Amino acid sequence: MMLDDQHKKEFYEVCFNSMPIGILVFDKTQKIILFNKVLAEIFGYNSDELHNKNAEILLKDKYLLENYIQNSHNINFKNNLECVGISKNGNEVPVEMSFGKIEYDNIIYYKALISDISIRKEKELRINNLNFELEQEVALRNKELEKVIEQLKKTIDKEKELNQLKTRFISLASHEFKTPLSAILTSTELIVKYADLDNKIKREEHLTKVKTMINYLNGMLDDFLTLENIEAGNIKPNFSQFKFNKVVKDIIKQIKPFLKVKQTLNFENNIDETIYQDPKILKILLTNLLYNAIKYSDEDGKINVKISTDKNNIYLNIKDNGIGIPENEQNLIFNRFFRAKNAVYYPGTGIGLNIVKGYITSLKGSISFKSTENKGTVFKVQLPKINCNEQKSISN
Ligand code: ADP
Repeated sequence: MMLDDQHKKEFYEVCFNSMPIGILVFDKTQKIILFNKVLAEIFGYNSDELHNKNAEILLKDKYLLENYIQNSHNINFKNNLECVGISKNGNEVPVEMSFGKIEYDNIIYYKALISDISIRKEKELRINNLNFELEQEVALRNKELEKVIEQLKKTIDKEKELNQLKTRFISLASHEFKTPLSAILTSTELIVKYADLDNKIKREEHLTKVKTMINYLNGMLDDFLTLENIEAGNIKPNFSQFKFNKVVKDIIKQIKPFLKVKQTLNFENNIDETIYQDPKILKILLTNLLYNAIKYSDEDGKINVKISTDKNNIYLNIKDNGIGIPENEQNLIFNRFFRAKNAVYYPGTGIGLNIVKGYITSLKGSISFKSTENKGTVFKVQLPKINCNEQKSISN
């Protein structure tokens, strides 16, 4: 069937309007020349409303069409350009545009194919939101995972450290037990021998030695047990009221027999105050620090003990002029089983200071020291003065 011109025109129009995409034709002044039904629908206009209007009213970016007109020769001008359209009622409509040029009757016109991409954009937004949420979730999970890994690492490290400590403990303990045990063996053999010879004085002497050694071993076992209690947080202070200088004086009295031949132990006893603290723990602290001062000082070493108090605290100061602690090992001496290199020729297990620190921590006090190798060491202990209310919080 052949169509006459009139029918052809009508048919063109039907085709133009039934395109599933908005078609906009404008001239170089951006004046709208032609547009199809879909285009008017996208922007919410009636079929006749857009004629001769400036096409820039359809877009948020007022320079876009102008820009295209200026650069229409540039093949890089984007096709499928996503931009924001403005509908008749002022709402924003996400659209996708492709541009082109048309020549008719020696005049250049410009066309834009425009689709409404609201649904696609909405989906994209939803996907983006989901992605964002997913990323957040993954980041959170990753962080949790990192924490678990970190925790696991710590546990493994702790396990390793524990194994090393156990090995160290076994070798130390066997070494430390061996000397007194063989001394006990020798003494008991000699006791038997002197029994035969009926030498009472020698027998008594060796019996005392055996007792001393057994006490020493007992003390060591006590230390190990204390260590376990500290580790398990089982230290429950037992506070009572006592004269600070009197208790310290008694402890010093008990320690004096352990001084080496020419060693002196001076106690600066110039305060007379009654305090409220745990005297048993005080004894453990002072005894440990004094034993060390004696052990790590020469035969003619000088040891000095000072005590003082202020409004809130009591202080102990134990000074010796012994072998000192090498500077590069000073940060380790409160570690369990740690013994400085210059201490290996002296007996010891490396747990005394760890216990001291554990007790002081449980009393919410502090310990510090200053030491110079071959010159001496001074330990300073600070313990809070307890009042009845605090007692509860510390014992719990
Ligand atoms: P031990 O004396 O049984 O080795 P401690 O825990 O009491 O264990 O002390 C840990 C380490 O700290 C000692 O091995 C020693 O190296 C060092 N140390 C402690 N007190 C002194 C001191 N007064 N002088 C020198 N070194 C000390």
